[in-house]
Amino acid sequence: MSDAVTRLAEVRSAIAAATAEAKRPADAVTLVAVSKTFPIEAIQPVLAAGQRVFGENYVQDAKGKWPDLRQRYPDAEVHMIGPLQSNKAKEAVALFDVIETLDRPSLAKELAKEVAKARAAGARIPRFLVQVNTGAEPQKGGVLPGEADAFIRACREEHGLAVEGLMCIPPADEPPAPHFALLTTMARRNGLAVISMGMSADYPVAIAMGATHVRVGSAIFGARG
Ligand SMILES: *Cc1c(COP(=O)(O)O)cnc(C)c1O
Repeated sequence: MSDAVTRLAEVRSAIAAATAEAKRPADAVTLVAVSKTFPIEAIQPVLAAGQRVFGENYVQDAKGKWPDLRQRYPDAEVHMIGPLQSNKAKEAVALFDVIETLDRPSLAKELAKEVAKARAAGARIPRFLVQVNTGAEPQKGGVLPGEADAFIRACREEHGLAVEGLMCIPPADEPPAPHFALLTTMARRNGLAVISMGMSADYPVAIAMGATHVRVGSAIFGARG
């Protein structure tokens, strides 16, 4: 068994424990296994072990791996969790099942255009999460908390995008709990069911605070090179 498969089982039990501890239903939390930078050979055993939801950060990286992996595992679901340039919107719509990093009007506009084309062609349409920059960090993507409600409304009403939830990456040097609490409050206020938060270092805390999706990379695949 590969190390990643052993660690996948450990992460799964930790998720189950945190979910039970929070008195939430056993299926309340979906594990997004973050396979960015890892090759097909590293991902394949994790798919074979039953994991079906994956996260990728780079369009080119994902494009080199998932068309091939999807042939063998047609029910795999791939989430874009990295910053998305508007000029990659077309490729992203074609590649991903969920785009978690919808974070600005210019991107919403490009994505809406590509979604319309995909729909006309009868192709699969991705679902979207709005990324919120809960720490208002200048170097980080995401809409500012004070602008999120209006942006979510614009994505749905003006751009016709299927926004189903929110995503955040708290500042690395702060306790994550207040950021997780803020994201959950914003999701509830906007009637959004999906809350993507928590990574290898803090996913049990995120589950306690309402995460429906945790994005776990290094705790499964090991350190990235
Ligand atoms: C890389 C990454 C993760 C996974 O991080 P780990 O600490 O390896 O679990 C989760 N979310 C986003 C947005 C990432 O870029």
